[in-house]
Amino acid sequence: MEHFDVAIIGTGPAGLGAAFALLDARPGLKLALIDRNEYSSGGLRNDCKMNFSWPVGFPEDDWTRPVAERYLDRVETFLSPSILERRGIDVYARRAERLGANLLEIRQAHLGTDGGLALIKRLVAELANRGAELSLGERALSVDAARGVLATDRRELSFGAALVAPGRAGFSFLQDVMRANGVPFIDNVVDIGVRVELREERYPIVKDYYDPKILFPKKVRTFCTNSRSAHVVQEKYEDEAGVWYSVNGHAWSADRPANGLANFAMLKTIALTEPLASGQAYARALGAQAMLLGGGRPIMQRIGDFRLGRRSTRETFTGDLYDFTPTLVSCTPGDIGLAVPAKVMRALWDAMKSLDTIVPGLLHPSTILYYPEIKTYANKPVFKDAAHFRAVPRLYLAGDGAGTSRGITSAWASGMRVADGMLAELA
Ligand SMILES: Cc1cc2nc3c(=O)[nH]c(=O)nc-3n(C[C@H](O)[C@H](O)[C@H](O)COP(=O)(O)OP(=O)(O)OC[C@H]3O[C@@H](n4cnc5c(N)ncnc54)[C@H](O)[C@@H]3O)c2cc1C
Repeated sequence: MEHFDVAIIGTGPAGLGAAFALLDARPGLKLALIDRNEYSSGGLRNDCKMNFSWPVGFPEDDWTRPVAERYLDRVETFLSPSILERRGIDVYARRAERLGANLLEIRQAHLGTDGGLALIKRLVAELANRGAELSLGERALSVDAARGVLATDRRELSFGAALVAPGRAGFSFLQDVMRANGVPFIDNVVDIGVRVELREERYPIVKDYYDPKILFPKKVRTFCTNSRSAHVVQEKYEDEAGVWYSVNGHAWSADRPANGLANFAMLKTIALTEPLASGQAYARALGAQAMLLGGGRPIMQRIGDFRLGRRSTRETFTGDLYDFTPTLVSCTPGDIGLAVPAKVMRALWDAMKSLDTIVPGLLHPSTILYYPEIKTYANKPVFKDAAHFRAVPRLYLAGDGAGTSRGITSAWASGMRVADGMLAELA
C-alpha cells in the first residue's frame, strides 16, 4: 500500500487551499489529492465570485472576525484577485437601513465560469509542478483514521493525516466518514429559498456592486448574484430516496456577450430543533415535494402570476407582459406557493417587497421565481481540535460539506486552517 504524508479528498477550494499551504510550508511533502469527478476543483468552476470581507461565507460558530481576516489576507495574497470597484451604493444602503435591512460593503472579485476554469487549469498545473499526485475520476469510499487508511474505488493508500473536503454534494459521504470514525455531528441548519431572474435594467444595483449582499429581517438574505451574461442552472441531488434538483446561478466573464439578465437567490435560514433535527432530510423532503409538483423538474413562476395567486403555464409564460425568456427553460411553469413552506414564503415575500423599495423594479410582472434553491451545507461535526477542524487524530473535515464555509474564499481559508493543524501534527 502506497504511503502519503497527507491525503486530501476533494479538489474544491478547501482541498486546494490545504494543498498549497502544505506545499508552501513543506515543499517535499508527499501529497495525494483525489476527486471523484473527471475534472478538478469543485465549486471554483461555477461563476467564481470571490468575496474577501468578513462575515461573507464564514459561519460564526467556527470563525471569529480576527481569525477569518487573518486567513482571508493569506487567501488574497495567494490568489491575487482583481478587486471590483463599488460605486454610488450609499443611496441603496440608506434605503436598506430605513427598512431594517443591511447592505454589506464587500470587497469582491469576479472571474466568471470561464475565468474560473482558467484559474483551475493554472492551479492544477502548479500542483503537478510541485510534485503532488492529483488523481481525478477516483472516488473515496471510506476513511479509517485510526489505521490511517483511505479506500477508494481503485486502491487503498495509507496516510499520516487526511482532509475530507467533499463539498455540499458529498454530504452523505461525509456523514458516513463521521459515523465510521466516531465523530458526533449535527445537521440541523438549512437555507431554503428561490432564485430570482430578471432584466438587468430592473436591478441596476449590479452595475455598481457585482454581488450585493443584503441581510433582511427573519434571517433572509440575497445570495450569489450574477449579471451581464447570467444563467440559471440546476444541480442534481441523488440518494437512496431518489433524485431532486436545486436551482443555482452563474455568469460568464466579461469576455462573453451579455444577455441583459441578472439572477440572484433569496434564502431564508432555518435552524431545526427536536424532534426533526436533520436539515438534509428536510431539504430532501422539500425537494421531493417540488419535483412532485413540477413533474420531476424545478418550478418557475412569473411574479405577475404569483401576485394574482394563479399558476404560471407554458401558454401564459410568454404573454406580452413577460418580456424575456427564462434561461433555465426546462423548468415547469407552475405555482411555487404550493411547494414553498408558508413561513418561508412569507419571509421571502416580505424581503422581496423591501428589496423592491431599495432597488425599484424587482417586482415587475416579468420577473421569474425559480424553486427550489436549497443549501444543505451545514453538517456540523464536533471537532476535538476546533482551531484546525480536526475531528479525531489524523482526520480533518472542512469546506462547505463540513459547514466550515459557505463560499470559495472561506472554503480556501478553511483548507489553510487545516494545513496549519496538519503541519503541527505531522511535525
Ligand atoms: C452553481 C454554483 C455557483 C456558485 N457560485 C459561487 C460563487 O460565485 N462564489 C462563491 O464564493 N461560491 C459559489 N458557490 C459555492 C462554492 O462553489 C462553494 O462554497 C465551494 O466550492 C465549496 O468548496 P469545497 O472545497 O468545500 O467543496 P467543492 O468545491 O464542492 O468541492 C468538493 C469536491 O469533492 C469531490 N468529492 C465529493 N465526494 C467525493 C468522494 N467520495 N471522493 C472523491 N471526491 C469527492 C467533488 O467532486 C468536488 O470536486 C457556487 C456553487 C454552485 C453550485
